[in-house]
Amino acid sequence: MDSVARIKTTIPSPYPLTAIYIDTHDTRTFRFGLPADATLDMLPGDHLYVHATSNGKSVKRPYTPSSLPGTVGFFDLTVKRYETGTISKYLDDQRIGDTVLMSGPRPGGHWVDGMAKKVGFVAGGTGITPMISIIRWILTKRLDAELFLVFANKTEADIIFRDEWEQDVRTHPSFHCTHVLEQPPAGWAGETGFSFSVGHHRWRTPWKRCSEGLAI
Ligand SMILES: Cc1cc2nc3c(=O)[nH]c(=O)nc-3n(C[C@H](O)[C@H](O)[C@H](O)COP(=O)(O)OP(=O)(O)OC[C@H]3O[C@@H](n4cnc5c(N)ncnc54)[C@H](O)[C@@H]3O)c2cc1C
Repeated sequence: MDSVARIKTTIPSPYPLTAIYIDTHDTRTFRFGLPADATLDMLPGDHLYVHATSNGKSVKRPYTPSSLPGTVGFFDLTVKRYETGTISKYLDDQRIGDTVLMSGPRPGGHWVDGMAKKVGFVAGGTGITPMISIIRWILTKRLDAELFLVFANKTEADIIFRDEWEQDVRTHPSFHCTHVLEQPPAGWAGETGFSFSVGHHRWRTPWKRCSEGLAI
């Protein structure tokens, strides 16, 4: 019998902030507590809404948990702070012990096991966030799928979870990662450019191998 409670709410519910991790100069991972026997009722890639009041108005924004679906006792949101942003700034102002109102999870762009054998992820900056839990899920479960991530950023300092991607490349032969930088440092070995388009990219080995049957 499954003794883990699966949480999904339509009305905003309070979640306590239990830890904050610094990912880059403008991105933090916020850990929120769940009951010890509970997990979010979500597929990899589904999102929650964070609710707050700003200038007397109710505001909500979607965020995709970056923690592995099925994690019991907590979940993580990885959020880039925009200085003029309403909810990203609100989250950045929260301190451990504060509670944040959230509803969901809600479906959107999620992964269903077995849906593809080759999967391409093309992300720019914080656009990586919906993909994090999907990549973690497929690699952790050792599912039969080859993954190709193209991750475009402005500078090296903007690359979220760079150590993890590099570790994944070393430990999972099925995971391929190419970084694209708009402002590369001297000696940068990855790709360079401002805007990135799959159709115009010079697909290099092992990217050529993914030309057939690729889901993006
Ligand atoms: C399904 C879904 C999942 C998402 N998951 C995540 C996630 O996990 N982590 C995460 O950090 N974000 C995620 N986002 C984006 C998030 O919902 C907000 O849009 C973002 O945090 C900005 O909201 P805000 O209220 O802080 O800024 P707003 O008040 O909406 O915007 C204020 C100003 O901030 C600037 N700004 C805001 N967003 C951007 C942007 N994307 N690019 C450039 N300038 C911008 C602009 O100047 C804008 O005018 C997701 C979006 C969607 C649709």
